Amino acid sequence: MLEKFDRYPLTFGPSPIEKLGRLSRHLGGGVEIFAKREDCNSGLAFGGNKLRKLEYILPDAIAANADTLVTIGGVQSNHTRQVAAVAAKLGMKCRLVQESWVPFPDAVYDRVGNILLSRVMGAEIELVDEGFDIGIRESWRRALEDIESKGGRPYAIPAGASVHKLGGLGYVGFAEEVRAQEQELGFRFDYIVVCTVTGSTHAGMLVGFAKDGRADKVIGIDASGTYDQTRAQVMEIARNTADLVGLGSDITDEDLVLIADYAYPAYGVPSEETNEAIRLAARTEGMITDPVYEGKSMQGLIDLVRKGYFPAGAKVLYAHLGGVPAINGYSYVYRNG
Ligand SMILES: *Cc1c(COP(=O)(O)O)cnc(C)c1O
Repeated sequence: MLEKFDRYPLTFGPSPIEKLGRLSRHLGGGVEIFAKREDCNSGLAFGGNKLRKLEYILPDAIAANADTLVTIGGVQSNHTRQVAAVAAKLGMKCRLVQESWVPFPDAVYDRVGNILLSRVMGAEIELVDEGFDIGIRESWRRALEDIESKGGRPYAIPAGASVHKLGGLGYVGFAEEVRAQEQELGFRFDYIVVCTVTGSTHAGMLVGFAKDGRADKVIGIDASGTYDQTRAQVMEIARNTADLVGLGSDITDEDLVLIADYAYPAYGVPSEETNEAIRLAARTEGMITDPVYEGKSMQGLIDLVRKGYFPAGAKVLYAHLGGVPAINGYSYVYRNG
């Protein structure tokens, strides 16, 4: 589906699929759980899902002859860290607007984890006191104007690389990659579980898995806490991406499964149940998930298995999208493990 689009390789190649046998057995063994390790997909600053999206956005930035990548996120944004890594790798400048999306009191929250890595990679960082919003932000527009006024050539990447005309393509590619891996494995996954916030990961999967009739088997776990806005944004990106790749069929409202139950108490703030899920995945599999995103989708996966949401014998693929560096901003929560 992606042959006609340029791709700038930023990842190692297909990310590995691993069976989570001990976690599956711990949850009763009725469902077989696997993980697709997008958290180990690249050597660029610990990798993650934004790199897969950026592979299709970078050729446009290069064609535009940009010299500065400009993007936005929260203080512990994984996305901004991955953009900083890409800028370093390509020899471009990087300007990051980081807003106070998470009301989190850890003393070193703005010093460690993702933001530390972005600083070390040479990104210019502006901390802005604004709350959470997945839409287009005024602070980001101001940064673009500032670079232009100084003679720079900025290239604008929206939050999460989502509301960009090419933002959905990377995860269409994910679905194609899973299909190729299923050929080798000799079976098909019945469900794909994914964490959803700015939307293009889920949207790309909807289009990619619509190709073989599995769009509604993609189970989105909302971690934004702004369900209606995220749902609308996923739908819009999915429809635009379906047009762009020439899917030939519509993505419908019924295709979009997005579960709101695990985003509490707020974006970026883990509940006690999220923390228990993080500990369980860590203690059964040595697999680390973070308190902002993957811990919540892991909580969702575990709860859905326990509730019998998946039929007996189902094979469930958990998309591990990265994000581990952020856990360093939560040292107080995990001070005793
Ligand atoms: C960005 C991100 C997500 C959410 O992906 P969207 O495309 O923004 O919905 C999930 N997990 C991690 C680790 C992320 O960095």
